[in-house]
Amino acid sequence: MTGTITADWLLTAELAPDTTDVLAPLYAAAAEGRLRLPHCGACELALDLEQRVCDGCDANTVVWRPVEPTGVVHSVTVVHRREPGLVLADGPYPVVDVELASGHRVVLAPVGPGTPAPAIGDPVSIGFRRLGDVTVPGFALPSRPEQHRPSRLESPARPSPEAPS
Ligand SMILES: [Zn+2]
Repeated sequence: MTGTITADWLLTAELAPDTTDVLAPLYAAAAEGRLRLPHCGACELALDLEQRVCDGCDANTVVWRPVEPTGVVHSVTVVHRREPGLVLADGPYPVVDVELASGHRVVLAPVGPGTPAPAIGDPVSIGFRRLGDVTVPGFALPSRPEQHRPSRLESPARPSPEAPS
């Protein structure tokens, strides 16, 4: 796992979410290093975080269950944000809409600083950040040591036709 969680790299503790509202089960599980998300109590459909009524069967019972902390990137936004005193990041950072293996969609910032923006469809895992006393989920990229992924914009060096021979 990721080891000890220290102070957050992105936000100050003042921006920690309220852990007593409708998302309390999410934060309680996160504090234990687990990802728990809402499902329909009648048909098990994956629900959005604050969804109360199932799109599939109209039931209004929500059950929170542990889910596999893996998924793929559905979309990526690179955030340029300067709010000294609240935002600690000193450069742009990616925020990713992750499609989890469970069928849930969650929007997450990286677990750690310096995370490059992934490509759509890239696999990600869910880890955790700590804002003051609150643990929140974030995304992490699989480590790929020694592997260079050439960009489509890179092309092999080719001698210029104008070059003198
Ligand atoms: Zn349902």
